[in-house]
Amino acid sequence: MTPPRLTVVGSLNLDLIVRVARFPRPGETLLGADFITAPGGKGANQAVAAARLGAEVRMVGRVGDDPFGGRLLMALDEAEVDRSAVLTTSGVATGVAMITVAADGENQIVVATGANAALTPADLTAAGSRLGSADLVISQLEVPSATVAAAAREAGRFLLNAAPADRVEPTLLEVTDVLVVNRGEAQALTGDGDPARAARRLTELGPTLVVVTLGPEGSVVVADGTLTAVAAFPVQAVDTTAAGDAFVGALAVALAEGNDPVAAVRWASAAGALATTVVGAQPSLPTRTAVEELAGT
Ligand code: ADP
Repeated sequence: MTPPRLTVVGSLNLDLIVRVARFPRPGETLLGADFITAPGGKGANQAVAAARLGAEVRMVGRVGDDPFGGRLLMALDEAEVDRSAVLTTSGVATGVAMITVAADGENQIVVATGANAALTPADLTAAGSRLGSADLVISQLEVPSATVAAAAREAGRFLLNAAPADRVEPTLLEVTDVLVVNRGEAQALTGDGDPARAARRLTELGPTLVVVTLGPEGSVVVADGTLTAVAAFPVQAVDTTAAGDAFVGALAVALAEGNDPVAAVRWASAAGALATTVVGAQPSLPTRTAVEELAGT
């Protein structure tokens, strides 16, 4: 089988990570464990996730002309993601995410967007005709929404991971084929705290496939009007950072390979579960062999 061709239009951040016993209260100073840095950013994570699962992936984004940017480009090279459309903005910092991970694996994240905010619709031409010819174009909302909207319009088939959800414009959902959101994002978009009802409402706004992920409780899928609950794979979670990104990358690969939506979500759930068993974003993204083993495919 020829590998699916995916293009990711999105963010690249360096993650600055400290593990803590619990989260600090406002005004409180806590002592944490060792400081770790790891390549991250929802866009780059999803690109690396898909590449690790065998897809041919092109990344479109921006970094700053600082050492962090160089480190992120190297990470894409190591993952064999085509980064010829990742541009460098001078005089602006590369995006960073300050992450604390608590003992139960839960995380809190503050992102300083930096160069990601400089990605314009015009930058998409750096990706040439590849946007239209990719099997699937994937975006999140850590880059300007006008750029995401332009990518969606150029794409043949478009997957939106609407995170963070406060930046979704309704017209974007009209040109979205596949929508992936977590529980909080589904509620923010619909005002409905019930994931199944929220998923159904979201399909009325444009996407033909909507997935609401629910962490260790799995996910709900609405495909062609039919709702299915997909269970999570039980694992020992140590860090949930990038579980959603592993899930989205794997879902994109499985859909582009022609799998039916529910089977694709099940496969993606195995990738999401595996990502929680290793600390860090990109270091935790699983290989195809590991996903196939857990999913039993
Ligand atoms: P996000 O990281 O975007 O908030 P979720 O936490 O919902 O996304 O995780 C995405 C998917 O990853 C879930 O639907 C589930 O299949 C899998 N997953 C996440 N956390 C766990 C966990 N603790 N155990 C097993 N699977 C998990």
